Amino acid sequence: MKKDDCIFCKLANGIIPTNSLYEDDIVNVIFDANPASEGHVLILPKEHFDNIYSLDDKTAAHVFQVAVKVANAINDSLHPVGLNVVQNNGEAAGQTVFHFHMHIIPRYENDTVNI
Ligand code: 5GP
Ligand code: ZN
Repeated sequence: MKKDDCIFCKLANGIIPTNSLYEDDIVNVIFDANPASEGHVLILPKEHFDNIYSLDDKTAAHVFQVAVKVANAINDSLHPVGLNVVQNNGEAAGQTVFHFHMHIIPRYENDTVNI
């Protein structure tokens, strides 16, 4: 199910065009509009889930499988010295867009990323 007023539903499904790193039937991996570091991407399910609590098993498993592939692709291409996988749920935890997403944040020597 898509939500009409959800920006990530629109981005994940190509209703708003964006640069995509990877796409399949279940997810779209896009570049973060306000990157914490070079190569910061977001894994977005094409279906709308508000957060982790409502995610179905198939999507949850797939998101993590894609995270592994994306992390390796970033490692091979950008050669970061580390990498964070971050996923926020609820305003108190720093979630600002209420469509489930996973951040992949490459880390570099002396960067200023604040997770
Ligand atoms: P959250 O704080 O909800 O975990 O992360 C939301 C992320 O989405 C932020 O890193 C923010 O920069 C990113 N973001 C918000 N709006 C847009 C948008 O319209 N396009 C893209 N590509 N990223 C967005
Ligand atoms: Zn949505």
